Amino acid sequence: MKYKKSIIIKVGKKLGKTLVIFAGVHGNEKVGIKALKVLLTKIKIEYGKVYFVFANPKAIRLGIRNTEKDLNRSFVANNTGKTYEEKRAKILMGILNKSDALLDLHAFEYREGSPFIICEKDSYELARKMDFKFITSGWDNFDVGSTDGYMHTLRKQAICLELGSTSKTSEYLPLAISSIMQFLKYHGAVSGKIKNYNKKQIFLKLVKRIYKKADDFSFSKKFKTGDKLGPRKIFAKDGEKTYRAKKNDYIIFPDDSAGIGEEVGLVAREMWAGIGHASAPPGAALDPASALSIPDVSATRRLLPGHRQKKTA
Ligand SMILES: [Zn+2]
Repeated sequence: MKYKKSIIIKVGKKLGKTLVIFAGVHGNEKVGIKALKVLLTKIKIEYGKVYFVFANPKAIRLGIRNTEKDLNRSFVANNTGKTYEEKRAKILMGILNKSDALLDLHAFEYREGSPFIICEKDSYELARKMDFKFITSGWDNFDVGSTDGYMHTLRKQAICLELGSTSKTSEYLPLAISSIMQFLKYHGAVSGKIKNYNKKQIFLKLVKRIYKKADDFSFSKKFKTGDKLGPRKIFAKDGEKTYRAKKNDYIIFPDDSAGIGEEVGLVAREMWAGIGHASAPPGAALDPASALSIPDVSATRRLLPGHRQKKTA
């Protein structure tokens, strides 16, 4: 790593927000790591303070997802600090506690498909301007201990970017860099106007995580993240069970090579589609603070014993 220090703080001359950008929470998702390295050579923060963080330095150095535990499941209050990642999460939670907003850069492993944003309603205003076709929400109901989920427990804004397949780092590097700049401009750390995204956006809410039950699980075709499933078509068979899509259902992270009990994909349902910045999607209030929708984490985590989530994003 060119940057020996994993946490780089840049402070503007004028007062402003405290922001934090994470890359390499998963060490093998290189697009965000490269984007930070490129930007750190030239970025000048004018207002407030920005933490640029190479989140999991050991995993980044080794080019692996994580060393002992998934860092993106370690941002929990009862973190015992036993593993390297839990220790690291404790340090990074200290930064999140001090920050007003988070941008976290990811990519997806061994899978193809459309890049997408993960955020809740309080971040729709910025997401509507970003150059992404898909905006997904509802992840806190499924994944506990994520960076964005932790920010939501603090009632703060967080956006995670899934910047396409890990096999396409250079293809999505410009999107990673332009998205960081949009985040910094939106929160006023650097001056300049954000360019709007003038193409159709589709706002999705996660509704189901599918686990493989039988050896013969198969999708009806070779799906990619962002493919439409419905309406009413059988899109997967699993032993005796058939999966049928509702109108405007989409698939995220399809992978029928998963083992029994593991995740083979997530179903997300369209809530709204259109030119995002031109007309607010339902529930996207203009005042982000009033639009906070904090999911009830205690009532969630529908991960049954013996069911394992694929670790691929
Ligand atoms: Zn990731």
